[in-house]
Amino acid sequence: MAYDDGNIFAKILRGEAPAFKVFEDDYSLAFMDVMPQVPGHTLVIPKDPTEDIFHANPVILGQTMATVQKVGEAVKKAFDVPGIMIAQLNGQAAGQTVFHLHFHLLPRSQGIELQMHAREMADFGELETHAARIKAAMA
Ligand code: 5GP
Repeated sequence: MAYDDGNIFAKILRGEAPAFKVFEDDYSLAFMDVMPQVPGHTLVIPKDPTEDIFHANPVILGQTMATVQKVGEAVKKAFDVPGIMIAQLNGQAAGQTVFHLHFHLLPRSQGIELQMHAREMADFGELETHAARIKAAMA
C-alpha cells in the first residue's frame, strides 16, 4: 500500500487539522490522542511520510525514537505514573487505523484500565490541560 497523504496525521503535520501539540522538532511531532485509552495518551510521529515501521528510514526512525524517549519521560513525570506503555501497530490486521507511522505513549498504573482503542472522543479542554502538563514537565 502506498502512503496516502490524505490521512489525518498528514493533515495535522500540514496544519490542515488541529492537534494539542506537546513537542516538535525538525523530524517529529508529539500530540495528544483525541480518543485517549487513558488520560495522558500521547502520540509521536515522524514528519517523514511513512505509513508504518517497515517503510521507515532507519535514521528517521532513530530520530523519532529519541522523541519517544524524551516525551515518554515527560508524560511519566506529568502524570506521576510508575510505568509508560509504548505501543505501535503495523497494518490493519494489527489494528492500525491511521496509516502514518506513530507511537502510542500510555501512562500505566495499577487500577487504571486502558479504554477501548480509538473509540471515545475526549473533552478538548481536558486534552489542552494534559498537553500543558506534559510541556511543563519537559521544561
Ligand atoms: P492506530 O489505531 O493507527 O494505532 O492509532 C491511531 C490513533 O489515532 C488512535 O489512538 C486514535 O484515537 C487517534 N486518532 C484518530 N484520529 C485522530 C485525530 O483526528 N486527532 C488525534 N490527535 N488523534 C486521532
